[in-house]
Amino acid sequence: MASNPKTSKEAKAAAKQESDRPLTIPSTLTVRQLAELVGASPVEVIKDLMKNGVMAAINQVIDYETAAIVARNMGFQTKEAPPPEESAERAVIEEEDASLLQTRPAVVTIMGHVDHGKTKLLDAIRNTNVAAGEVGGITQHIGAYQVELHGQRITFVDTPGHEAFTAMRARGARVTDIAVLVIAANDGVMPQTVEAIDHAKAAGVPIVVAINKMDLEDANPDRVKQQLSEHGLIIEEWGGDVICVPVSAKTQDGLGDLLENIVLVAEVQELKANPQRPAVGTVIEAEMDSSRGPMATMLVQAGTLHGGDVVVADETWGKVKAMFNERGQRVKTASPSTPAKVMGLSAVPHAGDAFTVVKNEQIARSLVTERQRKREAASVRPTRGVTLETLYGEISTGKVKELNIVLKADVQGTLDAVRTALERLSEKQVQVNIIHAATGIIIESDVMLALASKGIVIGFNSRPDTGGRRLAETEGVDIRYYEVIYDLIEDVTKAVKGLLEPVYEDVVEGHAEVRQVFRVRGGRVAGCYVRDGVVTRGASARLLREDEVIHTSRVATLRRFQDDAKEVQAGYECGVGIEDFQDFQEGDVIELYSRQRKS
Ligand code: GDP
Repeated sequence: MASNPKTSKEAKAAAKQESDRPLTIPSTLTVRQLAELVGASPVEVIKDLMKNGVMAAINQVIDYETAAIVARNMGFQTKEAPPPEESAERAVIEEEDASLLQTRPAVVTIMGHVDHGKTKLLDAIRNTNVAAGEVGGITQHIGAYQVELHGQRITFVDTPGHEAFTAMRARGARVTDIAVLVIAANDGVMPQTVEAIDHAKAAGVPIVVAINKMDLEDANPDRVKQQLSEHGLIIEEWGGDVICVPVSAKTQDGLGDLLENIVLVAEVQELKANPQRPAVGTVIEAEMDSSRGPMATMLVQAGTLHGGDVVVADETWGKVKAMFNERGQRVKTASPSTPAKVMGLSAVPHAGDAFTVVKNEQIARSLVTERQRKREAASVRPTRGVTLETLYGEISTGKVKELNIVLKADVQGTLDAVRTALERLSEKQVQVNIIHAATGIIIESDVMLALASKGIVIGFNSRPDTGGRRLAETEGVDIRYYEVIYDLIEDVTKAVKGLLEPVYEDVVEGHAEVRQVFRVRGGRVAGCYVRDGVVTRGASARLLREDEVIHTSRVATLRRFQDDAKEVQAGYECGVGIEDFQDFQEGDVIELYSRQRKS
């Protein structure tokens, strides 16, 4: 109805008022997020961007300057938000003001050889010692549980094994305070026992030994103690500092003693955290629940997690809708070293991801966007691992001070000889550490240990199995193969002295034929047909004209129809923009390649 139409004066005043509305925009955000911020539909935002010459899809990340143009057109006064404080969360745990710190429970992981009783021991501890005074609820596996002893709590991570432990460590997580090494009294120290010892040592985590299956007739704890000393663990009664407790997970004998000793070791460590701050910690496990959506068990490491908190874990975030303990009961808060199963995240995070509570949803969103942008901007090839060639660079920039080596050899005699020779190579600047040495093939847990310790794997007459090779490839862990000890010593010597030059070669990844040339804003792109291989955004590219190289640079933009694409496979058409190059002609061929280290 046209009653009471606003005079043009009033309308202008209203518009003026609108234009005074301040709006803080993060340094990067998606088109969808911008639409939410300005209270417009994504289509309106996309149209406005187009008017300003920016073609952007709804999930595309744009920067502050671009977003500000749209927001100003829509009557906002814009301001750039300070960048969210990025991932200092793990460091924060240690940098607390000492006066705010309070004692927290120890977090314990159980490790040991297969069938030595890790699972049974975890069950026995849980069943005999459900945190006193908190009966009720059905015990559930949520990834960790707490027990209580004389008023003191201990948190057990209930996915046993050094593989899970090191996999978390490789993601940067430092969760475990104490490792309980389970050794069956009738079986003694076995290969995975040695792995567990080395994995715990590499992480600097104290070990408490539980000699299990003491109920068996052929239990021989003395032999176990002897074998432990051969691996550098000297037990207390022999003058060392390793606590060793005989137990039986079956009869539950000795469990109280084991818990007492864990508390003792925890006290020596003086484990503390500030419960007052916003929570930070690590995702222990996560899954998609068909009725409740993503569920993540979060172990709080400092601060207190509350219902309603906004949490960010890697590239997912959400508001804590509800939290549950290991008995399936709803809890309102989770204090340091306490696990809680959290409902409310937008996606399923990974075990080992750090989580952090942030002030509001806007910060959470921009933190996640920023992380996505960084990941996408990072090189296509993984670089989490260290290579022997890049090692010296890492040393000179202070990133690493030691060369950590996981050594595998075919036979014990060779292993000992290679180990001795390698250990002699330590330089003033670089310590050569053999963090794990064993006979046999290179397995996934060897590669994981090298990754978590920023080290490399050396195979002396030893090759990886499929799992080991795949992990090394995806994570960029260097596996070096040698058959002659002289070659090995020469390479490592050069590496610690900074003399080892990497040798690279170009590997062709595909060809795209230019069939049409299009004008777009800011230049020209080539409409191509991918003849073979794959075209990847960011890949190195050569422009060939009649087999002659005209230009060498990178794929700057890649599109399938109207959408940005990360890669386009053979047999498909796409639009390709090349960095610093416009002068396409029909019939040109774009050759995609990558630089790879020659092995
Ligand atoms: P894991 O592979 O280390 O997790 O070992 P499990 O906990 O699955 O135990 C392996 C086997 O040893 C199972 O058959 C258990 O019942 C048995 N076992 C575990 N602890 C004890 C114990 O203290 N005494 C006896 N007699 N058997 C045990």
